[in-house]
Amino acid sequence: MDETPDLKSLDLDALTAHVVAQGHKKYRALQLFQWMHGKCAASYDEMSDLPKEMRTGSLGRIGGLTLDGVMESVDGTRKLLLRTAAGDRLESVVIPMGKGRWTQCVSSQVGCKMGCDFCATAEMSKRKNLTVSEIIDQIYSARRVLQGDGRIQTAKGAAEGDDEVGVVNLVFMGRGEPLDNFDNLTKALWMLMHPKGQAFGQRRITVSTVGLVPRIHEFGRTVPVNLAVSLNASCDEQRNALMPINRKYPIEVLMETLRTFPMAARRRIFVEYVMLGGVNDANEDASRLPELLRGVKAKVNLIPFNPYPGSRYRSPEPERILYFVDKLMKAGIQTNVREPKGRDIQAACGMLDGAKPL
Ligand code: SAH
Repeated sequence: MDETPDLKSLDLDALTAHVVAQGHKKYRALQLFQWMHGKCAASYDEMSDLPKEMRTGSLGRIGGLTLDGVMESVDGTRKLLLRTAAGDRLESVVIPMGKGRWTQCVSSQVGCKMGCDFCATAEMSKRKNLTVSEIIDQIYSARRVLQGDGRIQTAKGAAEGDDEVGVVNLVFMGRGEPLDNFDNLTKALWMLMHPKGQAFGQRRITVSTVGLVPRIHEFGRTVPVNLAVSLNASCDEQRNALMPINRKYPIEVLMETLRTFPMAARRRIFVEYVMLGGVNDANEDASRLPELLRGVKAKVNLIPFNPYPGSRYRSPEPERILYFVDKLMKAGIQTNVREPKGRDIQAACGMLDGAKPL
């Protein structure tokens, strides 16, 4: 093991082994774990009940992200501007759901190599996996931000019976392809669900993939959270042009993977469809979707395209969205339209590109 491991990246077993190997009592590992993951402590200074000799740093680093700033949208959405220890910048977005509840959109990579034609993140050349610590620290940073300005009154899960406030849903729909950072992502998810950590329920977490077919079942077997898949097209020709991944794993292969995805009864896979005006929003597209989704336990999320500087596409006409909803619902498919949030601060889907704040 690394001489100075990032303790925040270690699960409880690994942390315990490390703490014991360094000559400390076993129960200290749980204390440390609770400080880092339950109370979101950013440094040893806060860990008041740990003996001084454990807080010198010799055990390891308490890794994490630096918060460079927070941008706020007119709709209340907030974008956290974060930086890794290596100096890479990234964003995470918190979206108000009302009554003090927020959904957080989390990034899994610094850049993304999937190359989708309509996504700002794809235009960044740099691709780098975030560590476990960097993934989860986005949630801990958000918690500090939301607590810091009094927007949440109690820590999540503070007392039984309290209304849940703060970040209550996590969607891995920020920068990057989560399944392309499989090991760190799945470790991070287990840490976020840990009862001594943030204790997120498995239904409160959704991971979105471009459709990395070989990883999808493995993912379902590794962590029992919700799966979302970005379909975004109604035929291979269209999807090939929009999403290079389709040349490797065409629609029918992807759909068959979804039909056989291991999932509890009554659960659904979220199928995302970015509507690009004049490209994939025609009547024929709407007609083809139910055919494609036959046998897939799916809920469809229609996402109106969010234009960003330099993008070649436009948002669909509102009438097109209504047409799609109607067509899909009539085919018996549950359908939602994702309301664009945070467009004015470049925080909506597909807009996270590391551009400097204005
Ligand atoms: N790589 C994963 C996670 C990113 S999720 C995935 O592709 O699923 C981001 C979601 O926003 C995806 O469904 C993507 O198709 C969609 N998206 C990308 N760019 C967009 C844009 N400019 N406007 C609206 N949605 C966009």
